[in-house]
Amino acid sequence: RTVYLNGEYLPEEEAKVSVFDRGFLFADGVYEVTTVLDGKLIDFDGHAMRLSRSLNELEMKNPISKEDLLEVHRELVARNGIEDGLIYLQVTRGAADRDFAYPKDAEPTIVLFTQAKPGLSTSPQAEVGIKVIGIEDQRWGRRDIKTVQLLYPSMGKMMAKAAGCDDAWLVEDGFVTEGTSNNAYIVKDGVLITRHLGHEILHGITRAAVLRFAREAQMKVEERPFTLKEAQGADEAFITSASTFVMPVVEIDGAAIGTGKPGAVAARLREIYLEESRKAAV
Ligand code: PMP
Repeated sequence: RTVYLNGEYLPEEEAKVSVFDRGFLFADGVYEVTTVLDGKLIDFDGHAMRLSRSLNELEMKNPISKEDLLEVHRELVARNGIEDGLIYLQVTRGAADRDFAYPKDAEPTIVLFTQAKPGLSTSPQAEVGIKVIGIEDQRWGRRDIKTVQLLYPSMGKMMAKAAGCDDAWLVEDGFVTEGTSNNAYIVKDGVLITRHLGHEILHGITRAAVLRFAREAQMKVEERPFTLKEAQGADEAFITSASTFVMPVVEIDGAAIGTGKPGAVAARLREIYLEESRKAAV
């Protein structure tokens, strides 16, 4: 595979980052994951905008213009022959003598690589749905910044696996914040409910698109917190993320949701999302 590192396209074995990089030492970095379908980028603008926002919040320089970033994405898709897959992008504050304070002169490190995922949009998982467990949300308080500190989400996935499930929903002060790597939704009496934006959750690019499509389809949307108990009593539940699109949730802590099968609203939103996103892909 060819990867992109600080202005160069390199074979992956030749791409090297300093041991003093603050991404490595402090998790002082941010990332984005953009989906590729039929060789085109889904919601590139949204990801580029969120990257800028994350960098701003951390007072980090943006090492690349939006135009050049698009060019790098396209070049990697072409060089690695990606039809369906993901592009991972990471920007860290760069290498500097180890010190908690931000260094003044460090140059950011920017890395992009691709992951081929043949058949990504036709995942059989969407036909059966996923099972989740509820766990306490023990992440830091600025989850709206997409940092590379992903250890707790990793632990959450491991806890889910150990319980025979696919993922975990994180719970803070009794309310669901989001999934380990996705936003969480329920549907009750035709109303789509998902937590409001704030520092407590990542502002999902897929979330924004799905809520827009839901409103355009005249669905009632409520952005508010909900509990695991309310979710267990809902008609449907699902998650969204760039790589899973809209994925039905059929079980929460052992309780079947609705009929225990993927719901009609989730299926419809998945269909609209895939169709509209493909149309708008660049
Ligand atoms: N929440 C968290 C914690 C995430 O890690 C992700 C995906 N990286 C999402 C939500 C979904 O965001 P997006 O739709 O932009 O992929």
